[in-house]
Amino acid sequence: MAISKPIVELPENVKITSLDRLVSWCRKNSLWPMPYATACCGIELMATGASRNDIARFGSEVFRFSPRQCDLMIVAGRVVMKMMPVLQRIWQQMHEPKWCISMGACASTGGVFDTYCVVQGIDRFLPVDIYVPGCPPRPEQLIQSIIDLQEKIQAEDTIFGREFDAPSRQQPKRALQQ
Ligand code: SF4
Repeated sequence: MAISKPIVELPENVKITSLDRLVSWCRKNSLWPMPYATACCGIELMATGASRNDIARFGSEVFRFSPRQCDLMIVAGRVVMKMMPVLQRIWQQMHEPKWCISMGACASTGGVFDTYCVVQGIDRFLPVDIYVPGCPPRPEQLIQSIIDLQEKIQAEDTIFGREFDAPSRQQPKRALQQ
């Protein structure tokens, strides 16, 4: 039988949602990036925060160099083996829940630097959530990756912490085999 009339009439400016969705919504709109910019991609990362692109529109303008205040690691540029322990230390100092964006070809795959000293993709050591292609990626691409990450965060089950259930979430996507 169809219900012809709602049981309770709500004013137009009243919304009903679950607490879980509300917390996820707060999280996704208040990402604090931890920039780890080592090379030319870092310039595009800086441009993303400047007035033309204005990452503040997405609530992610608070770039902090304090890992304990950040929840979004953005690795922009090539990472060499010597830097990897530092990057891992910073990642471990960031509170859960946290996310990682690999910006550019070098961070994602080593790029053109197919040498023994350049890490051939940070996902051998860190769990990367979003990869941004390009050499360098444009600020619009980074912004799109943040929008995609926001959708991912909204879909997570925040209150019950189901995002932590999957062991793979905490592990690098590609383990170092050698
Ligand atoms: S992907 Fe290209 S622009 Fe980015 S750090 Fe590597 S060489 Fe530089």
